[in-house]
Amino acid sequence: MDPIVDIDFIDNRTPAQAAACDTHVTQESNTGKSRKLYIESYGCAMNFSDSEIVSSIMFEQGFDTTSDIAVADLVFLNTCSIREKAEQTVRNRLGQINHYKKKNPGLMVGVLGCMAERLKKSLLEEEKIVDLVVGPDAYRDLPNLISEVDGGQKAVNVLLSREETYADINPIRLNSNGVSAFISIMRGCDNMCSFCVVPFTRGRERSREPYSIVREAQALVAQGFKEVTLLGQNVDSYKWAAEDGTETVNFAQLLEKVALLSPELRVRFSTSHPKDITDEVLYTIKKYDNICKYIHLPAQSGNSRVLELMNRTYDRAWYMNRVDAIRRILGDDCGISSDMIAGFCTETEEEHQDTLSLMEYVQYDYSYMFFYSERPGTLAARKLEDDIPLEVKKRRLDEIINKQRETSLARNKRDIGRVHKVLVEGKSKKSKEQLSGRNDQNKVVIFDKKHYQKGDYVNVFVHDCSVGTLFGEAVD
Ligand code: SAM
Ligand code: SF4
Repeated sequence: MDPIVDIDFIDNRTPAQAAACDTHVTQESNTGKSRKLYIESYGCAMNFSDSEIVSSIMFEQGFDTTSDIAVADLVFLNTCSIREKAEQTVRNRLGQINHYKKKNPGLMVGVLGCMAERLKKSLLEEEKIVDLVVGPDAYRDLPNLISEVDGGQKAVNVLLSREETYADINPIRLNSNGVSAFISIMRGCDNMCSFCVVPFTRGRERSREPYSIVREAQALVAQGFKEVTLLGQNVDSYKWAAEDGTETVNFAQLLEKVALLSPELRVRFSTSHPKDITDEVLYTIKKYDNICKYIHLPAQSGNSRVLELMNRTYDRAWYMNRVDAIRRILGDDCGISSDMIAGFCTETEEEHQDTLSLMEYVQYDYSYMFFYSERPGTLAARKLEDDIPLEVKKRRLDEIINKQRETSLARNKRDIGRVHKVLVEGKSKKSKEQLSGRNDQNKVVIFDKKHYQKGDYVNVFVHDCSVGTLFGEAVD
């Protein structure tokens, strides 16, 4: 059965972005292990990356991965709590998985990730089919937890850690196109945005040892990967210090270390935080051709009062200043994308207009757009009233989406008549005779296949576009 893909924002993303945000399912590994693991991952790229760590730990425990839930001995749902709907999707999915459990009573079902962390033991009571509940910092304990379940018990570990980065675990690449891979460079988040559940579900921010990151990227290059995306909730606050105090590495320095591995390796990163992104990072991006000129810089709102209520620690003027710095240092071609929340507590119509005018100012290439969903335990849930009626939130979201469609189209039209360096990711979904890849700015480009293959860099002359895609012809 296909996984449920149920998102509560309107989708004007490129297929590549969508692939990075919907649901991922494990592929077959078939190395002859005695049991089979099926993982479905929901939410953000960080979860997909975590599922690769989990697969690696489970492989050592005698589990191959499978893409067919019907033949699995163990099912993991790696979950997201960011909005209420994300949790509801998982609960619905558990209902469906119950049918498999009825046919195969020995089937073990585990809930991993943010929802496990948020709901802890109560998930076992609420969802009877669940056998184990494991938070994002407890994956090393999976072997013990699995033996508890093998012994007929239910198992829970939701301890958060201040140190765990899984630096020494070699992820098993799932759903990989063999071209691009995620590398987690840090975990957790120390910002307390008032709407956000992440600091509660993923714990304190910690940065992974830089040389393990470089080694992981190096191994990917050796395997033929052409692109890595360095992942963190706020990559700009990446900071590592050697225990003996002899060396420190910040994000700009880490980016440089990875970029220097090979000029053939494209380096991307996400997410940048407006309060922390420095000119040093921007100059590092400029210095290396293989660091992609594309920055995901979530604004959330264009109004300073709302930003303060959101506890984002910057205001509209600060955000605009950072965008100006990007344009000054990296030029108008640098792609910029955002996350936007419509209808946050007490937001007025005028304040909503400020979001639209910020979008007009920045001319985002694309955005992930949501309406506010109150999450239990967050600062906003405790201190602010969720007072914007749902239909108003949805109407404002529609207006934000329409504005985004406008600026996406305008930005894509600028790309017409130019040659773009495209990294081919595979066949186009619509035609076997066409290939799909992405340009530096992370935009999907479709062109006729000719003799080109997955993993090739191809110069493509773009002659047409839609809101989400560029169309062109390969030029030699
Ligand atoms: N760390 C990233 C940042 O600060 O930009 C974002 C991480 S969060 C996983 C992804 C996005 O989900 C946020 O940028 C925000 O737009 C959205 N989001 C988070 N909490 C939300 C909520 N309670 N309601 C609606 N959207 C929310
Ligand atoms: Fe959530 Fe804010 Fe941290 Fe992003 S920076 S994960 S929105 S608390």
